[in-house]
Formats: sequence, structure tokens, C-alpha cells
Amino acid sequence: MILGILREPEFESRVSMTDESVSQLTKKGIQVYVEKQAGAKAFCEDAQYEAAGARLHDRADILKQSDLLLSIHPPVENEISLLNKKVLVGVYQPLYHPQIMKAWASAGLTVFSLDMLPRTTRAQAMDILSSQANIAGYKAVILAAQLYPRYFPMFMTAAGSIKPAKVLVLGAGVAGLQAIATARRLGAVVEVFDTRPVVKEEVMSLGAKFIEVEGAADASAAGGYAVEQSEEYQRRQKQKIAESIAKADIVITTAQIPGKKAPVLITEEMLNTMRKGSVIIDIAAATGGNTPFTKNNEIINYNGITIVGNSNLAATMPYDASRLYGKNVLNFLQLIIENGQLRINRDDDLVAGCCITHNGEVVHEKIKSLL
Ligand code: NAD
Repeated sequence: MILGILREPEFESRVSMTDESVSQLTKKGIQVYVEKQAGAKAFCEDAQYEAAGARLHDRADILKQSDLLLSIHPPVENEISLLNKKVLVGVYQPLYHPQIMKAWASAGLTVFSLDMLPRTTRAQAMDILSSQANIAGYKAVILAAQLYPRYFPMFMTAAGSIKPAKVLVLGAGVAGLQAIATARRLGAVVEVFDTRPVVKEEVMSLGAKFIEVEGAADASAAGGYAVEQSEEYQRRQKQKIAESIAKADIVITTAQIPGKKAPVLITEEMLNTMRKGSVIIDIAAATGGNTPFTKNNEIINYNGITIVGNSNLAATMPYDASRLYGKNVLNFLQLIIENGQLRINRDDDLVAGCCITHNGEVVHEKIKSLL
């Protein structure tokens, strides 16, 4: 079996697998072909791949010869028709692109989209959303500290005392929790909102204050994810966020609902109560953002408030992001490769959970329902 690792598009600095995970595959007799310079921006050189037992090839050869292709972002459209019957493993956001999945099914591809992997205990070692969101949460705070014109920690100095920065985190999922921990390590005072009351304990154990809003919609059937809230809840939540935001220096927003547009949690009126020099890092930018002014991949200035829209912060730490992503993928591959050969068992809930297309059809129920 030949496994191909593709170079990502120009805007991406990560690679889907680095040398240490590649060596695990080659030791098992799997041939690994790597597109030249695929890992350069992630500090994984061609020579390291070769030392791990992989062979370097041109993209066209890899597309033609591989049985299974790894990439984070999808191959370009005109390459898809060349990939008949191949297996693709990546992050394709099928909830937002069901028609593309239909086209890939018709092209005969078997597609595994790792962002659809069920969030269960057994899946933790292959959970790319978690490994990358963890980096995003950490980097969001570091970036905010860099852009914020004041200190994060409290200081008593001979020249006067400095108050600690007040950080507000909206959404305490994986990214939000890491943002809380990082902001606390830098000495900030942290307040947190989430629609899922179950995160209260985790938030408090990190030394932050959890602000409760009564009457959240029951999300118990949503696999741990958030669901859309009632208008009454949204009104009450906005009121409480407004009170916190007027005092906040830094806001990290991470609130997302899979398959939907991100909720606008910060209104224009709220922004008008924030101090100049405040910083908002909006990790939910790719799905619309949590403020009305967020622009994905842009930094804007709204009345002296810096709003950073960036849902790809993991890519700003390509070394660790790629190594962790690659290990997640390696763990997932153990479910679909047996004795060096592909064996797709859709009775396994993890395999079925992220298998979007197979045998010429869209096989994932949720994606099918969107067509
Ligand atoms: P996410 O990126 O989908 O959303 C981020 C956070 O925003 C979530 O905590 C969500 O509740 C919150 N949110 C959504 N709408 C909101 C609103 N209107 N106001 C305030 N907050 C709002 O979340 P994620 O980090 O991907 O985590 C999703 C779930 O998966 C969590 O329950 C997490 O604990 C769980 N998880 C499980 C595993 C595992 O067991 N393998 C691994 C990682 C995460």
C-alpha cells in the first residue's frame, strides 16, 4: 500500500504528517510518498522524511500512485477526477460543503473528514479538533498580549502599581479552556461564558469566574457540542455579556455551533462600551465570527479596539501543530489499515462517524440529510 502526503496550499504552514509518525508507518511496511518540500514550513525537511523511510515525489506522481492521500486542506478541484477509488483523509468541513462531498462521491473517492470524528473517549488520541484548538486557545492569548498596550499581570513597582488585565472568554470548549489557562498563567483576571453549564467546574478549577445564564437549551443529544439557544436566553446572555465586556480589556471569542453560523455574541453597542486599546481575538471568524465586524484573516480597528479574525491560529505554530496533527492521523489510520492494507470497517463507530463518502455514495447520514 502507498500512502501519499501532499504539500498544503500556499496559505497553510502545517503539513498533515511529520517524520516521526511517518517512520511508524514505514516500519510496518507501508510505502510513504511525500511531495517535495511538503513539510518545509513546519520545519520538517525532505531529508528527515527520507531518513524516516519515505520517498520524495512530484505531486502528479503522488496523486497517481497513492492508495491513500493525506492532506489537511482538500486537493484542488481539477485533481479530484484523477483520484478514482482513492482514500482521502483530511479536514474537509463537510457540514459546510455537502455538495462538494457529493461530487467527490461521484468521482469514486472514499473520504474521511477528521473534523467529523465522534468526540468520545476512544477518539481522544485522534482528535485533530482538540490538538489544533488547544494551540489556537494558547496562541490567541499570546497574540492578545502582544497587541494589548498594557501589562497582563499585576505589578507593584517603585514607579506605581499596575492593575491586572481583565480577560473575557466566550465559549469554554478546548480552545476556550486553553485560553483561560494561558491568560491565568500570565496573571490576568478571567471571566467566562458558555451555554453548557457542565464546563463551570473546569472553568473554576483554572481559577476563572464562570458567569451563569439561566435557561440554556438542552444540548445532551448534541455529542457535547452547543446547540442554538432560544431568543429569551440570547437576550439574557447579551445583557450579562454587556456587563462583563464593559470591564474587559481582552476578549477571546470561540463560540461555534457545528454546521451553523457562529452566534454574534458581541454587538455594536457592546463594542461602544469597551475602552480604546482593548483587543478581541475572534477564533470563530471562519464561520462568521462572534462580533458583527469580524473579518476572517484580517485585523481591523473599530474605534480604537483591535479585532483579530483568525480561525487558523494553529498554523502560526506549524511545528507543534503538524506533529500533533500527524500523530492524531497516525492513530486514526490504525482503524482503517490492517497488516499494511486498507480495511474499512464501517461497523466501527469512529470509522463510520467520519466516513463521508464510500463506494460512489455519500454514506454519512448527517451530510446526506443536507443534500
Ligand atoms: P466548539 O469549538 O464547537 O465551541 C466552542 C465553545 O463555544 C463550546 O464550549 C460551546 O459550548 C461554546 N458556545 C457555543 N455557542 C455559545 C454561545 N452562544 N454562548 C457561549 N458559548 C457558546 O467546541 P469544542 O472545543 O470543539 O468542544 C465541543 C465539545 O466536545 C465539548 O463538549 C468538549 O468537551 C467535547 N470534547 C470531547 C472530546 C473527547 O472526548 N474526545 C475531545 C474534545 C472535546
